[in-house]
Amino acid sequence: MAHSASATQPRDMDTAAFLQHIEAAFARIFSDGLNLMEYLPEDKWLALKEAGLLLPFLDERHGGRKASQFEIQEVLRIAGHYGVPVTLRTGIEGALVLQPLQEFGNDAQIAQGLDWIFNGEGGGLAVTEPETSGAAIAREMQSYYEYTAEDTVYVRAAKYWQGNSQSDFLLVAAKERKNGKLSKTINLLLVPKQYITYEALRSEGLRAVRYAVNRIDTEMPASAVMKLSDSDAAGLRAFQNIFIRSRLQLVGMTHGIMEYIVANTEKFSRSDIKFVEYERSEIARRYQVSQVLYDFTCRHVSPEAPVAHQLMEANIIKTLATEYTYEAAQMLQKLLGAKGFERGHPASNIAIDFRPFTIFEGPNDMLYAEIYDQFTRATAAEKEAGVKLDKNQTLLARLQSDIRFSAVALPERTLPQDVADFLAQHTLGCTCALKKVFAGKIIARLFVYVQAQSDEAARFVLKGIRKDILDCAYCG
Ligand SMILES: Cc1cc2nc3c(=O)[nH]c(=O)nc-3n(C[C@H](O)[C@H](O)[C@H](O)COP(=O)(O)OP(=O)(O)OC[C@H]3O[C@@H](n4cnc5c(N)ncnc54)[C@H](O)[C@@H]3O)c2cc1C
Repeated sequence: MAHSASATQPRDMDTAAFLQHIEAAFARIFSDGLNLMEYLPEDKWLALKEAGLLLPFLDERHGGRKASQFEIQEVLRIAGHYGVPVTLRTGIEGALVLQPLQEFGNDAQIAQGLDWIFNGEGGGLAVTEPETSGAAIAREMQSYYEYTAEDTVYVRAAKYWQGNSQSDFLLVAAKERKNGKLSKTINLLLVPKQYITYEALRSEGLRAVRYAVNRIDTEMPASAVMKLSDSDAAGLRAFQNIFIRSRLQLVGMTHGIMEYIVANTEKFSRSDIKFVEYERSEIARRYQVSQVLYDFTCRHVSPEAPVAHQLMEANIIKTLATEYTYEAAQMLQKLLGAKGFERGHPASNIAIDFRPFTIFEGPNDMLYAEIYDQFTRATAAEKEAGVKLDKNQTLLARLQSDIRFSAVALPERTLPQDVADFLAQHTLGCTCALKKVFAGKIIARLFVYVQAQSDEAARFVLKGIRKDILDCAYCG
C-alpha cells in the first residue's frame, strides 16, 4: 500500500481521512491528464489500487476496511469525477469481481484472485453470451463445464462484452453438464487468462475499458469451479443476488458521473440564454433525484447484510439512476453546441460512454416490467406472514399497504388526485407485457416521489409520472 502524508495506512484511517486520501490519490495519479479515448494505463490503475481504491469492497479479514456501504458508494462517486470508464472499472473490479470472489470462493481461490486484483490487472465477470439473450440469461445460458476426472473439468463457453477482458482472469458463469444434460443452476469458474481466447471488440464508446468476445474450449483443473450453493434453487438465487447487490451499488457510479456532468455544465455551457438556463436546471433536478437514490443505498444497504429482499429497490435504482444520468449527459452534449461533437472533448464522450449503463445489468425496459411484477406480487416477508395479494386489488391499495414504500415515505408526499385516480383505476392483475413497462416506470418514480425531501425533485418526478400515465393510455 502507498503511504499517505501521515504514517497511518489507508485501511486504518477514519472514514473522512480515508476518502480524502482517495481524492488526493486520484488528483496525484491523474495529475498529468487522462486520455479516455485509450485504454486506462495499467500502471496508473495499479497505483490507484495500491492507494486503497478497492479497500471498501475488501473484507476486513482479507486486509480491507471495516464494512461500510457509505465508503463503497463514495469511492465509486469520487471515481466518477474522472469520467465514466474510471468509475466503471472501479465498479467492475469491486462489485462484479471482488465481492462475488470473497462470497463464493474457497480460501485458495480467494488468495489467487486477490493476488491478481491487487498485484496485476485484475479480472472481469463473464455472463452474457453472443448467442443467447442477456435478458433471459439464467434460462438460456449455454456455457458449461463437465467433470472429465475427479480433478479436471472440460469447459466450453462463449461470452461477450466483458469489461476488463484480456486481464488476468474472468469469473465465468456456467452450468454443470452431466450425462449430456445442462443443469438449471449456474456456478462461477475462476478462469486464468491462459485458458481464454479472445477477439477484442471495437466499441462505439468506453474506449478506456477493454471488451472482447471471450471463448473457452479446453480442460482445466476442477479447482476453478466456484459453487454458489449446494442446492440448485439456492444457487440460482445466489447468482441473482450478485446483480441485486451490484444494481443497488451502481448508483455510486452514476451519482459521481452526475456530478461530473453538473461540473462540466457549469464549465462549458452558456449562461446568457434563458432556455439554456432552464436546461441547466433540468440537469440539476435529475441530480437531485440521483441524490435520493444514492442516499437510499447508503442508508438501507450493508455490505454485510443479505440483499435478496431488495430486488424491486435494486431494479428501481438501476433503471432510474441510469435513465436520468443518460438524459443529463445528452442534455449537456446538446448545450455544448458544436463542441459537443468534437471527438475527445471531455464532455462530448459522457453520453456515448454512459449509454451502455442503460443496457448492461439488465436492459432498463425489461427491468421496468420486472419492477411492476415485483410490486404486484407478495414479498417474501408477506408470504411468510401469510399475506396473499388479491389480483383485483388496486395499485393504489397495494401502494398503501406496501412496507417498501411506507418505510421510506415522508408525510408531506401525499399523492396528487390525478395520480391516485390512475392507481385506483388499475388492478394488480395486469398481464399486458407492454403496459407493464410503463406501469413499472410509474412505480419506480413513485418510490422516489414518496421519499424526495426536495419539493423540486418531487415536482420533477411527478411530471415524469404524468407522462408515463399518458404512455399507458396511449399504448392501448
Ligand atoms: C459496454 C457494455 C459492457 C458490458 N459489460 C458486461 C460485462 O462486464 N459482463 C457481461 O457478462 N456482460 C456485459 N455486457 C453485456 C450486457 O449485460 C448485455 O448486453 C445486456 O444484459 C443486454 O442483453 P442483450 O444485449 O442480449 O439485449 P437483449 O436482452 O436482447 O435486449 C435488447 C433490447 O430489447 C428490449 N427488451 C429486452 N427484454 C425486454 C423485456 N422483457 N421487456 C421490454 N423490453 C425488453 C430492451 O430495449 C433491450 O435493450 C456489457 C454490454 C455492454 C454494451
